[in-house]
Amino acid sequence: MIKAYIGLGANLGDARHTLQQAAHALGAAPGISGLRLSRFYRSAPVDATGPDYVNAVAEIDTDLAADALLSVLQGIENQHGRLRPYRNAPRTLDLDLLLYGELTVDTPRLTVPHPRMHERAFVLRPLEELRPALHLRQGSLTELLQACSDQALEPVPDQPET
Ligand code: ATP
Ligand code: MG
Ligand code: MG
Repeated sequence: MIKAYIGLGANLGDARHTLQQAAHALGAAPGISGLRLSRFYRSAPVDATGPDYVNAVAEIDTDLAADALLSVLQGIENQHGRLRPYRNAPRTLDLDLLLYGELTVDTPRLTVPHPRMHERAFVLRPLEELRPALHLRQGSLTELLQACSDQALEPVPDQPET
């Protein structure tokens, strides 16, 4: 079993509800177990326009290969009507594979660790909830969060139980 971390994000439609449903679908997918979900956070778009995002991170145990896991993520995105009209476009659901154990992947379809996760407060903060002592190649979560402290991020209040 490999521990993997998934970044969830949405800023179209009922983003919070979509993230709840996506987390449920992920945790119930064949080859995936032990899902732990961070709190939900609200963040302003980075390098993009549009409504605020709701973001979270999920930890899973999986015996799927990394590329098969990406296919599961894309399947769940598609169930929620994900379109890609242009880069960083507003989206109903984004599921990114952040970390897959200690594995490094660099193919056209999949790069792991996710190449931009270390500069995104909306990834680092929920990840810190799940794995406070985690170090990425670029530094500890604490250090990396300090470096992006200009990115506004607040917990979403009154979150229903998952
Ligand atoms: P960003 O990657 O900067 O967060 P994005 O999530 O909006 O941007 P997408 O449109 O969701 O980007 O994905 C574009 C492509 O990225 C996908 O077709 C997928 O094959 C590829 N990709 C590469 N590495 C990953 C990864 N670790 N997780 C998810 N998709 C990835
Ligand atoms: Mg993304
Ligand atoms: Mg994506």
